[in-house]
Amino acid sequence: MTAVPRRSAPVSMPAMAGLAVESSPERCCPRCDAEVLASLRVPHGWTNTHGVQVRGFRELIVCARCDADDPAAGPIVTFFTVHAEASDANIGQLAVLLGRWVAAAQARRVDEAAVDAEAEAYFRGEL
Ligand SMILES: [Zn+2]
Repeated sequence: MTAVPRRSAPVSMPAMAGLAVESSPERCCPRCDAEVLASLRVPHGWTNTHGVQVRGFRELIVCARCDADDPAAGPIVTFFTVHAEASDANIGQLAVLLGRWVAAAQARRVDEAAVDAEAEAYFRGEL
């Protein structure tokens, strides 16, 4: 794996579909400690055992090492391998790649009903 050059300053992308995407040189992947190239905070919530809706965010990241082979995140890794940093000259290209990654991330959202059904089946001893 080719080392990915660090960027000199955080890059904030325009909001896409109401979601903020950031690229920061100061973060490390919690899985492998490699550089985080981009992060996405998406609204996340659930109903707790008291029936109260809990709302928060979950964060998705693009890791220079872990996500190189991912169909949606890999092109972002390649972008930062080729370009030293996001700039006015290439920000449009990066925005397209981030947009595709956001769309893929949204499509991968957890099917909470399926998780609940599987948990109930587990507790019934069916799994
Ligand atoms: Zn990683």
